[in-house]
Amino acid sequence: MASPDTHHSVLRQVFGYDSFRGRQQEIIEHVMGGGDALVLMPTGGGKSLCYQIPALLRAGTAVVISPLISLMQDQVQALREVGVRAAFLNSTLTPEDSRAIELGVTEGRYDLLYVAPERLATDGFLELLDRTPIALFAIDEAHCVSQWGHDFRPEYRQLDLLHRRFPEVPRIALTATADGPTRREVLEHLDLPDAGLFVSGFDRPNIRYEVVAKTNGRRQLLKFIHGRHHGESGIVYCMSRKKVERTAELLAAEGVAALPYHAGMTKEARTEHQQRFIREDGLVMVATIAFGMGIDKPDVRFVAHLDLPKSVEAYYQETGRAGRDGLPADAWMTYGYGDAAFIRQMVERSDAPAERKRIEQLKLNALLGYCETVECRRAVLLRTFGEEPPDACGNCDTCETPVESWDGTVAAQKALSNVYRTGERFGAAYLADVLIGSDDARIARNGHGGISTYGIGDELDRKGWMSVYRQLVAGGMLRVDPEHGGLSLTDTARPTLRGEQTVRLRRDPIPTRATPKRARGDSLEGVLESSLDRELFEALRAVRLATARARRVPPYVIFHDRTLIEMALERPATPEALSTLSGVGRKKLERYGDIFLRVIAEHG
Ligand code: ADP
Ligand code: ZN
Repeated sequence: MASPDTHHSVLRQVFGYDSFRGRQQEIIEHVMGGGDALVLMPTGGGKSLCYQIPALLRAGTAVVISPLISLMQDQVQALREVGVRAAFLNSTLTPEDSRAIELGVTEGRYDLLYVAPERLATDGFLELLDRTPIALFAIDEAHCVSQWGHDFRPEYRQLDLLHRRFPEVPRIALTATADGPTRREVLEHLDLPDAGLFVSGFDRPNIRYEVVAKTNGRRQLLKFIHGRHHGESGIVYCMSRKKVERTAELLAAEGVAALPYHAGMTKEARTEHQQRFIREDGLVMVATIAFGMGIDKPDVRFVAHLDLPKSVEAYYQETGRAGRDGLPADAWMTYGYGDAAFIRQMVERSDAPAERKRIEQLKLNALLGYCETVECRRAVLLRTFGEEPPDACGNCDTCETPVESWDGTVAAQKALSNVYRTGERFGAAYLADVLIGSDDARIARNGHGGISTYGIGDELDRKGWMSVYRQLVAGGMLRVDPEHGGLSLTDTARPTLRGEQTVRLRRDPIPTRATPKRARGDSLEGVLESSLDRELFEALRAVRLATARARRVPPYVIFHDRTLIEMALERPATPEALSTLSGVGRKKLERYGDIFLRVIAEHG
């Protein structure tokens, strides 16, 4: 039964894919053979197939434990579309519907059953399972068992009962959170001592990382969207509710279909916006970090940050929502002096215990280090996760346009002694004005027109000095007063002031008017412009949307963009030809083949 042919044919005929990705095949074979597994794979890596294919091939029903109710429904819908017998049990169902599904379970009518963890541990449900042949248990988002993680779910702590109660049934735990402590907690609390460990690299090669020096964040965002992602889906993260609303309004006024999402909105409004984001093509969601968990939309083409995320880990998770379908996507952020100062202020203000504060400090340093790096951004990110990446990825801003660094020792000395001479009370904008010898009335009033640092900075303009101050704050030589934002010197500034230490600074690239140089075909826009009939693609998108509406499912559940692109490139004329494309399995061919073939023929 477990011959390689079998799982390959399921991959092709049910899911419509030609080959396994990464370690999928190994994992599937391991679970098929009855082994337990812990699977660590980045978002979009293809974790679901690792349990879905064994679920179809092993006798009995596979029970999938998932904490995200909204996602459950989407996953079940998507499985039904490819002809898999799937159902879910959670609190959104009426008691009657629940009973009907439970009956179906005992009658063996499902290959996959999704349940919430709190339901799994109930006596009633466990008794139901006692009466049912079980193919396997899949524990999705397994990091929820970790008390130290950001998604702790107490109910996950009860899942060790599975092993005791059903010792023969293989268990596969899956997560995209990879750090060592979490991994150990998962193995321990899920009681998986002998599980095969399958760790995939955390790189997301199709995501392009970029951080631009902030001038006017919202205007820069608008230019970014107009330039590179016109008409595409994306997520824009902002720190505050107010900023979310203002940004969504600005985008809408400038012709970008955008919706706000934050915790201050009613639950109904949030649900509606989330549904629209999932079900419509090309919407931009402007959101606080309240948005994102449980969003499994594969065609999010960009994630933009107008404010700094909480940590590098949070950034990686948030940006990981882009490009799950493997097509080119952007992770873009604007970052400036205010962001660096704000985040330093937050740490100063924190009254957390010393040890906690030290950890926060380290996390912030890592984040600011990412923003200020002159190295490959991907390399910085991956090293945070313990990987040893190559020095350059070729798909981030610093690889594409190497950042010049310069000997900023003298500039740093001027900037720091200017802080000292003005009494360690002023913010960067004022300090920059003093260095360039501005005739601002405030400077005269404060008596700073005559100090030794006044006007000594003509090698840089105001923006240049702001950049120096930003980097000194980011690097920790300057502290930001938590109340009024004034800068003061820290101990690490001393060696520089005394000339005992050289300082290298990055020269912020001057933004070009056009989009950065990148090979055509690198972005989705590029693919579409260069090699394929845009009109046909749009026509295919339109039938997809109409079909999705009629069936009440998100468009990507009908076909992914990748499949539409292949259709427009290859113009299949027969069902056989169509069935060779990625994402076209038996069931979808049967259901939608004719509709899409007709559109292709009409555009001949
Ligand atoms: P994860 O759960 O790891 O975030 P998913 O299981 O949702 O990822 O898979 C991400 C996307 O990749 C899905 O759209 C899925 O259909 C697609 N995918 C998974 N495995 C393959 C494969 N072997 N070939 C092509 N596409 C795949
Ligand atoms: Zn790079």
